[in-house]
Amino acid sequence: MKIKSLLTTTAHRSASYLESLPARCISPSSTREQLLDSLGGPLPEQATDAGVVIDDLCQKVTPGLLHTSSPRFFGWVIGGTLPAAIAADALTTTWDQNAGAHDCSPSAAVIEEICGQWLKELFGLPKNASFALVSGCQMAHVTGLAAARFRLYQRIGWDIGKKGLASAPQIRVLSSENHHETFSRALRLLGLGTDCIQIVASDDAGKMAPDALRACFEGPPVPTIVCLQAGDLNTGTFDPFEEACAIAHEHDAWVHVDGAFGLWAQVSPKHAHLSAGIHLADSWATDGHKWLNVPYGSGYVFVADREAHRASMTMAASYVAQSGEENQVRNQFDWGPEWSRRARGFPTYAAIRSLGRSGISEMIARCCEVADALTTAIGSLPHVEIISQPTINQGLVRFLSPQGDHDAFTDKVIEGIVTEGSAWFGGVHWHGKRVMRISVCNWRTTLEDIPPTVAAIAGVLKHAYENH
Ligand SMILES: *Cc1c(COP(=O)(O)O)cnc(C)c1O
Repeated sequence: MKIKSLLTTTAHRSASYLESLPARCISPSSTREQLLDSLGGPLPEQATDAGVVIDDLCQKVTPGLLHTSSPRFFGWVIGGTLPAAIAADALTTTWDQNAGAHDCSPSAAVIEEICGQWLKELFGLPKNASFALVSGCQMAHVTGLAAARFRLYQRIGWDIGKKGLASAPQIRVLSSENHHETFSRALRLLGLGTDCIQIVASDDAGKMAPDALRACFEGPPVPTIVCLQAGDLNTGTFDPFEEACAIAHEHDAWVHVDGAFGLWAQVSPKHAHLSAGIHLADSWATDGHKWLNVPYGSGYVFVADREAHRASMTMAASYVAQSGEENQVRNQFDWGPEWSRRARGFPTYAAIRSLGRSGISEMIARCCEVADALTTAIGSLPHVEIISQPTINQGLVRFLSPQGDHDAFTDKVIEGIVTEGSAWFGGVHWHGKRVMRISVCNWRTTLEDIPPTVAAIAGVLKHAYENH
């Protein structure tokens, strides 16, 4: 098949898929075994025409897709993809630029510079902060914490890049209990280990208590990283940035913010007060692929201490021009953990331009509005208890069993909703209870998605209640 007809057909396929989403059953229809059967087989010895390969791929893969871009997908914290971002991402693949260094693709490098500046402005972060576009919030944590690790060790005369960690003094990490697992993994990857985490008490919603944080600094000084949350995964709660940053900085601690989705609240004037003082931190990690609705593989990190950031990541390559203030060239490898890498700035750039600040702000506010209204509507059904009304875009409910076994019943209802297919939610353990999480982060989701969602839940719930 000729490339032009292959790509034209592919473009049509993509558009039809996106158009089909609102009416699709969201859950996959095939099991792992069925997918292995239809897709697997012996390693192909002979060539197959690309058109046939792609036809086959579409046909056989589709039944195993979880249609997370559906406007009624409310599971985990997963966004969709904006049209401009899809198109830019397709071109990114076509252009196949290595966005490791400026010389490899001046456009990819410059686009990232622009994205970094725009994102800092959107989030109200310090103008002079450094940044990197990484694969997701997980690697944003690794990058931000590597800068923290560099600086804390440098202050006590330990060159971490040269000497490594084997006999280094211990760093301590203070965090509330609800930190994300990717934060712990970042500590493991960086060799700091999870034993270095000391839990700071928080209130019922998960907000760190400033007095408890202050108490951690009594006694002899220890190099410390404080991790704060912008948007708890379950309740959307924000830590008290202003107070916590002041306490941490009094004691020379580094403050890292997990703002995977919550940092985006900064963009909505109605919600920005929740993260007041967030600009006072030292590093910030967030995602593009969640609330900005760009394709997967997109996270952002910002670091106030540019030198620490650069020193922890930089590498020398004799075959490309080195970055430097003198020639204005920005090599991405000086700021992120990868070398050869995808030009992930293009879809971010397209997403920001296509919506503008006002459009992003509306999208964030709309998701919050839908989350709140959807939680209220589900909560008004019989046998439903609202566990957490959204602060931003995350709500929690549970389903009450006639027998009192609410955990098992909640799981049964969630399974029923997922099987019914017109909406999708996931379950989570929260404060000793099994609950259903409601997460809204898709640009396509509107208040109109609420009635069909609630009708589906009502039907499943009634049936489950009567048959329990
Ligand atoms: C999703 C998420 C992460 C991890 O982000 P990835 O993009 O999956 O690496 C970290 N923290 C929070 C609060 C999250 O919601």
